[in-house]
Amino acid sequence: MITEKDVLDSMRHIVDPDLGRDIVSLGFIKNLVIDGGRVRFTVELTTPACPVKETFRQRCTEAVMGLPGVESVDVTMGAMERKPRPGSEINTLESVDAVIAVSSCKGGVGKSTVAAHLARAMQRDGLAVGLLDADVYGPSTPTLFGIHHPHITMFQNKITPVNLDGLKVMSLGFLLGESPAVLRGPIVSNYIAQILRQTDWGKLDYLIIDMPPGTGDIQLTIVQQAALDGAIIVTTPQALSLVDVARGILMFEKVNVPVLGVVENMCSFTCGDCGAVHYPFGRSRSSLQERFGLPTLAELPIMPGVSDLSSKHAGADIAGFTQMSDQVHRAIGKSRVGAQERPQVTVAGNAIQVRWSDGYQAVLSAHDVRCACPCAVCVDEYTGAKLLDSSQVPLEVTVEAVQELGNYAVSFAWSDGHTTGIYSWEFLRALADREAGAAF
Ligand code: ADP
Repeated sequence: MITEKDVLDSMRHIVDPDLGRDIVSLGFIKNLVIDGGRVRFTVELTTPACPVKETFRQRCTEAVMGLPGVESVDVTMGAMERKPRPGSEINTLESVDAVIAVSSCKGGVGKSTVAAHLARAMQRDGLAVGLLDADVYGPSTPTLFGIHHPHITMFQNKITPVNLDGLKVMSLGFLLGESPAVLRGPIVSNYIAQILRQTDWGKLDYLIIDMPPGTGDIQLTIVQQAALDGAIIVTTPQALSLVDVARGILMFEKVNVPVLGVVENMCSFTCGDCGAVHYPFGRSRSSLQERFGLPTLAELPIMPGVSDLSSKHAGADIAGFTQMSDQVHRAIGKSRVGAQERPQVTVAGNAIQVRWSDGYQAVLSAHDVRCACPCAVCVDEYTGAKLLDSSQVPLEVTVEAVQELGNYAVSFAWSDGHTTGIYSWEFLRALADREAGAAF
């Protein structure tokens, strides 16, 4: 007789590549029914948009079919029931599965272009997608999508978003005109909040918000009001861009919004004559993964024709956009399960103790950790040369505050006033390994 245990055990080798754990212990297998030789169950994924959905279905079917006595396997692919959006007072977002902000510290890095292509790429994945252009300083959606004088209609006191072959689009530019608005901060936040609240988004898999550039109060208000599921930071590989990324991470963490990753835009271009790839801004020495523990969701080159999204197929042939959409689905799934257990940090006097979830522990000296600070003030982000003069760091330096940053990193406020360092867990682990090696 086939037992529930046999069925579950047969699938324990199927590991979710993003969460690093098997789908049985993650609790993904639901509604298991064994009826003689017929087995049926649901695989409940973190998000309906999981890009490895079909692979899971196939692997589960094969695994269970391999059990003696099994005649047929019926696998339904489902997604976790979402709790009502916590903290959001906006009932138009009730039926939106995930709200994602696309943000940047500066204007002109391609934030709106990336947000629009992300929306189009997700739409091509068969998902219901909305795009809110909240960039009051330079709404670009009208230009990107070629919608200059839309006929905006209201129904039951709600604005109906413009429907572009299935993509629901709303822009401040539709209401305020396309030139940058000269409005004071609080009025801007109110405007955006009102549009969020009054647009009838209906049922969506994703709402992408193209944020105003910067990390100030306006942005914070939007983040809080929309109760975001995650944020994406767009940057270019120019000098100082890593400082911007750090600033963005710190803003979102203030309000507990996980940063899903970074899109590096306009990194390279391909010479039309010889086909050689050039990196006009140089290449950063260390990856964002090493610096902040954050994935790079896409590295996009400079591309001609990127700002015409009037067709649903715009950008379909650009691998970077498809990859970006896949990576966002995966990052959302990962942040929902939160399966990566965070290491624990304890500070006692001049010692910082870190305990990782695999049981590895290290006690690091606060002075060593401060001197190893990887921020762009302490280390040249291109050459990797150390800029911090360690002899200037007081030997008795201590940690005054610890802030955990999502699942990926931690930041310390030091007694010498330095606060800009973001230490990824991987970076701290490498530091601990180095110290352990030096001790022998
Ligand atoms: P932001 O929203 O950050 O202000 P935009 O998305 O409006 O930036 O982009 C600024 C300009 O750069 C636009 O003219 C846009 O077409 C162009 N652009 C953005 N990304 C790319 C790219 N990958 N290749 C070529 N041009 C780009």
